[in-house]
Amino acid sequence: WQPDRSYRLTILHTNDQHGHFWPNAQGEYGLAAQKTLMDTQRYDAQSKGSGVLILSGGDVNTGVPESDLLDAEPDIRGMNLVGYDAMALGNHEFDKPLSVLQKQQKWAKFPFLSANIYAKSSGQRLFKPWAVFTRMGLKVAVIGLSTPDTLRIANPANMATIEIRDPVTETEKAVAELRASVKPDVIILLTHMGHYDDGQHGSNAPGDVELARSLPPGTVNLIVGGHSHDAVCMEKENVSVKNYQPGQPCQPDRQNGVWIVQAKEWGKFVGRGDFTFRNGELALDSYQLIPVNLKHKIKNADGSESWLTWQQEIPPNPAMMKLLTPFQKRAEAKLDVPVGSSDGVFVGERDKVRFEQTNLGQLILRAQMAATKADFAVMSGGGIRTSLPQGAISWRDVLQVQPFSNQVVSVTLTGNQLLTYLATVANIKTDAGGFAQFANISLVADGSDVSEVKINGEPLQKDTTYRMATNSFNATGGDGYPRIDNLAGYTNTGLRDADVLRGWVSQHSPLKVSDYAPGEGIVHL
Ligand code: ATP
Ligand code: ZN
Repeated sequence: WQPDRSYRLTILHTNDQHGHFWPNAQGEYGLAAQKTLMDTQRYDAQSKGSGVLILSGGDVNTGVPESDLLDAEPDIRGMNLVGYDAMALGNHEFDKPLSVLQKQQKWAKFPFLSANIYAKSSGQRLFKPWAVFTRMGLKVAVIGLSTPDTLRIANPANMATIEIRDPVTETEKAVAELRASVKPDVIILLTHMGHYDDGQHGSNAPGDVELARSLPPGTVNLIVGGHSHDAVCMEKENVSVKNYQPGQPCQPDRQNGVWIVQAKEWGKFVGRGDFTFRNGELALDSYQLIPVNLKHKIKNADGSESWLTWQQEIPPNPAMMKLLTPFQKRAEAKLDVPVGSSDGVFVGERDKVRFEQTNLGQLILRAQMAATKADFAVMSGGGIRTSLPQGAISWRDVLQVQPFSNQVVSVTLTGNQLLTYLATVANIKTDAGGFAQFANISLVADGSDVSEVKINGEPLQKDTTYRMATNSFNATGGDGYPRIDNLAGYTNTGLRDADVLRGWVSQHSPLKVSDYAPGEGIVHL
């Protein structure tokens, strides 16, 4: 850079798209409108002399059956067309085998970045750690970072060969390498680590706030984040706006001289930050979260309801529609398939399945018990991703509940082994993904141990063996469950969890929710 010259830089960003390439039923978000919006914003910024970067904070994968079915090809090809310059690797990029991720990298015209993911065997980085862009005479380095929680919360089978190193150490290392080689003017961390107010990360790994605070001042200029699905807009120092509404102003977080931004989830918003770089300093001129056709419900005079867009409706980009429509049609044909029906809702909401036993937990686990001839079953509540609706149930509905393609497995354990297993699993705290759902077993969990264990209503015998059904995620140590896949009595059915649930639903429809009352015998002291 030259002294006393002002350079303008505009960052456009999204994160946690989770397969939402297509708009929802109300016409909210979707890559076609996002493309129109990004183009408008980019041209506007460029017309004001600004260089522009379009960045994603990761977790492009997993969440919408249409996208999951196609290994997120529409999302990634769509991101090419939008013109993304780089993406951070999120934990959900590891939901499918690494071969899928490699395929996705080939589709992408932008790099998947992570400076802290290493191959265990070679000790080498597995992905490009950074990318360097020159925009309007300014050299901008973008370093990718992934949450170390990926090791704990992603599919253990895909993580066996991977090491995730400390983001702070790896940032300092990457910055040193960059300063010694390309000498960037501006350094941006593109992270998938989460934003936690005042660094209160609870049981999660430390996030962007802790990272910014841990780095020596001046190490980096900006963190573009993801993972916690937050609109990072601050009400006052260290306190973010609760329940951020579209159209409200947004003041990004700033910690230790580093700006931190994040744009909620699913492409609901595009974040835009306009910066001026002068004499080595990067200053934020303005920031906004621009809603992508988000709507709110209004009551009409005649009592009917309609959906109103918060801001002017953004039209879909025709080229994007042409790209995405065949993908959407292809997937719909496979997903709009009736599977069965129910006389009520099977509850899979996050604020239920991570806190208490639910009827959907019962339904899933009973199907898995039947598939493995097991005596009882257990799984992470966090593996149940949504509810099953009352009325008709489609294949899409089932896949939305269980999108991860885990296999149904079982293991034989003695009563003694089981007590040790349960002491860990039944004592996982509420609000964690690992909070356990059970079927055909009752017990009292006191925070460290279990007692009064009954299986199928009979008190547990220490020398008797019992067959337990679960899924490959938990069996291989997912959510910190004890590993059982290395035990002699372990069997993997090879059946996908969603297929097992589908089979059960179609055989037992119409389902009666009263047949699946959640077990009352799970008591947490
Ligand atoms: P993000 O916040 O990164 O978008 P997320 O929504 O999955 O990801 P959480 O809401 O914290 O993050 O959910 C993590 C939980 O999801 C895990 O604790 C686990 O229970 C469940 N989970 C994640 N991956 C799998 C998987 N492959 N199989 C089964 N359950 C999984
Ligand atoms: Zn994530």
